[in-house]
Amino acid sequence: MIVTQLVNLPKAPIVGKNLIGGEWQDPSNGKRIDVISPYTGAAIGTVPMSDASDVDRAVQAAKLAQVAWKNTPIRERTQVLFNFRNLVLDRIEDLSHLAAAECGKTVAEARAGVLKGVEIIEFASSLQNMDDGASLEVSRGVTCETRREPLGVVAGISPFNFPAMVPMWMYPTALTLGNAFILKPSEKVPLTADLSGQLLLEAGFPPGIFSIVHGGKETVEALCDHPDIQAVGFVGSTPIAKAVYSRATATGKRALALGGAKNHFIVVPDADPDITVDGVVRSFTGCAGQRCMAASLMIAVGDCDALIEKIAAHTKTLTLGVDMGAIIDKGPHERLHGDLDQAVKEGAKLIVDGRGTPAPEGYESGYWLAPSIIDGATFDMECANRELFGPILSIVHVKTLDEAIALQQKTPYGNAYSVFTTRGATARYVIERAEATMVGVNVGVPVPREPFAFGGAKASKFGSHDMTGWGGVEFWSMQKKITSKWSLQPDVTWMS
Ligand code: NAD
Repeated sequence: MIVTQLVNLPKAPIVGKNLIGGEWQDPSNGKRIDVISPYTGAAIGTVPMSDASDVDRAVQAAKLAQVAWKNTPIRERTQVLFNFRNLVLDRIEDLSHLAAAECGKTVAEARAGVLKGVEIIEFASSLQNMDDGASLEVSRGVTCETRREPLGVVAGISPFNFPAMVPMWMYPTALTLGNAFILKPSEKVPLTADLSGQLLLEAGFPPGIFSIVHGGKETVEALCDHPDIQAVGFVGSTPIAKAVYSRATATGKRALALGGAKNHFIVVPDADPDITVDGVVRSFTGCAGQRCMAASLMIAVGDCDALIEKIAAHTKTLTLGVDMGAIIDKGPHERLHGDLDQAVKEGAKLIVDGRGTPAPEGYESGYWLAPSIIDGATFDMECANRELFGPILSIVHVKTLDEAIALQQKTPYGNAYSVFTTRGATARYVIERAEATMVGVNVGVPVPREPFAFGGAKASKFGSHDMTGWGGVEFWSMQKKITSKWSLQPDVTWMS
């Protein structure tokens, strides 16, 4: 029996559809799989598993539509996006409950994700005011100017963990710049994408300008291979990011693929206890640790025992279903249990063991795991160097700040790290040396905030540019340089 309703699960199963040429369609091969809610382990809908023919139909419709969209002045394009922003805010509760239902996070976390997406929509809606090009008289009577132009038909492939927000990292900017956009959402969370697609149509995007083609590997490969897709943006795990980047660039496309992460906290004894405890615990438990920005390895410099005790005590107060959601699927849920066994086998100590914590009443068949803390890990242990993607914090102890920095530099990933200290000089020393592109100072999750670009380095990013902010504007557009001579005296300049 459900004692407290944590999320509005769909009343009837939702049949996910592809959005092609402004129409909702079934996949041509008829293949579908279930969409499972992590809250209950039960199906809440189905999703098409499309093939290359569906991708091709979406591309052809997008190509046709993009001709007129490209010729629509940017001021008019941003108005449509602004309509979408208002519709997203009107329907934020529906979007948040649906995202939570299919990806397992709490409704509050899902709502925060949608609002972060709105920040990007607002950035993209204001591009007409910010991006005014450049013009210079380079020699007498000769002017160079730049024009930003769309690429054409572009595609975005997204992961499960932010059903609304991660797609919004890509399509608002791409659409505003005059592209037609094809989204391939994660097959684990396709329903929020369909609701977003419906709102984009209601906002007034012309048919074919925004499309959705659902599916998995086959669909992604068809997008990478299609000769009429000009650019592919990808967000997901590192092995798939690498594969997508290679495949898309092999056919001459522009590609930007963000991958996984293993983010670190460097904590020194002078760190403010309240800020540190709050920052660390929120970071590794938020979204049940299923965030590319979650820090899952704490490098404790010197004597941080009192801080660690406080972190452990605070972690134990969290309530499943209220402070933390569920794990996406049965497989990862089982794997995370095994990861804790493995850490103990390798010689680390479980100072908080989340296994066995009861699920919220009424949701017992869901994939729940309360947060756990592994202390005394060493850098060669699985828990310290692999992305576990769950609510598990591992702690490594070192004597000096330089040792902590050396460990951070060893990680193959380069997404984020945070330093907790009350000394500016310590923060600066770490910032200048640690190797990742998103840095937190007394902040556990240095999330994307517009207009600052969000990217990654090393095995967390394949390709150049960034996913959001001005990096995204550069990625989804090309610059044309126009050199003009408007002089009536041909002899005043050397340019013919
Ligand atoms: P995933 O790599 O399994 O899936 C991402 C997308 O790739 C999905 O749309 C999926 O359908 C598709 N896909 C899966 N297997 C494929 C294959 N063999 N070939 C082609 N496409 C394939 O990732 P996930 O489990 O959905 O998401 C979690 C991962 O995403 C974590 O590693 C997390 O760190 C990462 N992530 C990174 C960022 C970032 O900004 N760097 C943001 C969010 C999530």
